[in-house]
Amino acid sequence: MLPIVEQQLDAEFTVHRLYDAEDEQAMLAEVGDRIRGVALSWWQVNEAFLKQLPNAEIVASFGVGYDHVDTDACLAANVMVTHTPDVLSEEVADTAIGLLLMTVRELGQAERWLRDGNWAENGAYPLTQATMQGRTLGIFGLGRIGKSIARRAESFGLKVAYHGRSRQDGVDYPFHASLVALAAACDTMMVVAPGTPETRHAVNAEVLKALGPTGIVINIGRGSVIDETALTEALEKGTIYGAGLDVFEEEPCRPERLMKLPRVTLLPHVGSASQATRNAMGQLVVDNLKSWFSTGRPLTAVPELKQK
Ligand code: NDP
Repeated sequence: MLPIVEQQLDAEFTVHRLYDAEDEQAMLAEVGDRIRGVALSWWQVNEAFLKQLPNAEIVASFGVGYDHVDTDACLAANVMVTHTPDVLSEEVADTAIGLLLMTVRELGQAERWLRDGNWAENGAYPLTQATMQGRTLGIFGLGRIGKSIARRAESFGLKVAYHGRSRQDGVDYPFHASLVALAAACDTMMVVAPGTPETRHAVNAEVLKALGPTGIVINIGRGSVIDETALTEALEKGTIYGAGLDVFEEEPCRPERLMKLPRVTLLPHVGSASQATRNAMGQLVVDNLKSWFSTGRPLTAVPELKQK
């Protein structure tokens, strides 16, 4: 947890740090029944973990995605779950557009060309075969972040279309009822859907084939949404053009096969990773806990627990 979170939690509550424990199970056995609230980022919250915290009332998760929290188990155990939506949307959208530009125009590779001395010794970096101009961006998951990306994409002159589990109010981008239909209608796919059992491997070989040989895939959502093996094969065979990935099926990772490919940009899950945005997310973790223990209400419950 960030210093601003730790300091404020220390001032307000008695804090036990599981990540500092030499023996996590021993610590849980010792203090588990005294824990009323949990602040976490990537820790797996499941039925077994909740059983070790029989008096827990709330899990305040850092981040908008909460695929590491079993919300059914929390509902069954009467435990509130909060996350940190909105405060990161613009930052993540900026990263998504940066990743798209880097991938289309090979900016990372061009910078390495200069740093390696090739410009001075061997001449200009080769012309990129792809351009942003004229592209159609198909957004999978037109939620908070997806809409922020769409606004930016429009200002670049891109056409925007989308697929999701529902049509979005207040937007007039074309909606496609399936991901394959979206892929067929665009050449650039922006994945910003959450990692859930329903979205797992939604971007599969069939979707990639529909995207076609000029197709570029950007993933700023969750690694599990793309079948990474199918994506790697499509890139190796050239059945799609390129990919920009901020998230992976396993993290942290060193994706050797993807790293060998020329038109691939790989980032280490930095979508929201500026100090200012991470502090805003941390503040929301603190504020959710304070609100819960002073008013009995959270500020930003996850949708599954909003009615609770
Ligand atoms: P939202 O809930 O606002 O948007 C998610 C969108 O995906 C919604 O439109 C939702 O539909 C749609 N969706 C959800 N489930 C499905 C499904 N089964 N099939 C099709 N569409 C679905 O979330 P945010 O925009 O705030 O965040 C999106 C995701 O981005 C997060 O869950 C997180 O995983 C990821 N993320 C990644 C970051 C990074 O560092 N790379 C940083 C922050 C977030 P509906 O409108 O019907 O709910």
